[in-house]
Amino acid sequence: MKHKFNVVKVGSTTVGGGPFSVWAGPCSVESQEQFSLTARKVKEQGGAGLRGGLYKLRTDPRAFQGLGREAFEFVRAVKKDVGLPFVSEITDARQIGDFLDVVDAFQVGSRNMHNYALLKELSQIDKPILLKRGFAATFKEWMLAVDYLAKGGNEKIILCERGIRTFETATRNTFDINAIALTKQETPFPILADPSHGTGIAALVTPIALAAAAAGADGLLVEVHPNPPEAKSDGYQSLNFAQFEDLMHKLPKVLTALDRKMATV
Ligand code: PEP
Ligand code: MN
Repeated sequence: MKHKFNVVKVGSTTVGGGPFSVWAGPCSVESQEQFSLTARKVKEQGGAGLRGGLYKLRTDPRAFQGLGREAFEFVRAVKKDVGLPFVSEITDARQIGDFLDVVDAFQVGSRNMHNYALLKELSQIDKPILLKRGFAATFKEWMLAVDYLAKGGNEKIILCERGIRTFETATRNTFDINAIALTKQETPFPILADPSHGTGIAALVTPIALAAAAAGADGLLVEVHPNPPEAKSDGYQSLNFAQFEDLMHKLPKVLTALDRKMATV
């Protein structure tokens, strides 16, 4: 082993260093009911953390842009109810102050991996950063984005492979499983796999999640929705509750084969 692996504390849990952490929730937080139902399912199934978009960077400006501040209060209530930490994407440095009271980790999305002004601001704060890979970024470019955070003073970095754009159009993105194993080989940082954006097809999420676990990922960031066909974003790639239960049933079997365990909160 060339280096020690970082363990990043996020709220009441940790990411990295062996245990496998499943972070799950809707693409977008849509209502208190939708978020609360999902959060309870994630907790019941042994998830380590919640995800949910509050500010959405949508390709189509007419698409749902997220509830923003409207959701902050009920998100805090749901977090307290289930007792799980929460990660959400920050899309603009001006959101940092407000976000500090709501999130346990700041997600930098694929579209913002190259937003060095945002990375510089986030390097100054004392909270973990979940840094997604840009959908057209090389591994090297991604690691240079890591340097913006680390050299600025924030080393609480969790990486997330979410698929890259290739010539293949049968799936939304091409999940780069090499990047999982390469991260473990070359860096001390924990890495989550996002098979939801990595495939764009709900039926492919579980097989790719299991493959990522086998390749050494430290956990998952996965989209789950109580009623995916009605989701305001990314419904086609969101697991319904039965599919999520199936994933959570299969994961420990793959982990056991590799002498690994699920993370606890
Ligand atoms: C998301 O996690 O919902 C998201 C927008 O992801 P990405 O930045 O990887 O597209
Ligand atoms: Mn999404």
